[in-house]
Amino acid sequence: MNQEEKAEFKEKAANEIASLDADICSLENDTQPIAPDVSLGRLTRMDAIQNKSVAEANLASARTRKQRIQARLDQIDSPDFQKCKRCGKEIPAARILYLLDTDTCLECASN
Ligand SMILES: [Zn+2]
Repeated sequence: MNQEEKAEFKEKAANEIASLDADICSLENDTQPIAPDVSLGRLTRMDAIQNKSVAEANLASARTRKQRIQARLDQIDSPDFQKCKRCGKEIPAARILYLLDTDTCLECASN
């Protein structure tokens, strides 16, 4: 990756992390324990439980993605940044810029 692509990666990664932080914050609210006698308005308790488990899954995946992007950001100046972790081939810059959190080439990722 050239300097421009690296700068683009840093900017995209920072934006994505900020947006994930906002998601994580709101999902943390949605995953608070549901009190048995809570007044839920139109939502039934079953709906609330269902929503909570969806929010928990989304929260876990948002946290994982944030960690992965952060890790990639930390590696950006390493000579191996663009190397596929599995086969060692160069990962195209476009793929890295699009996915942000990948450290494998398309072939390895689809196998
Ligand atoms: Zn590979």
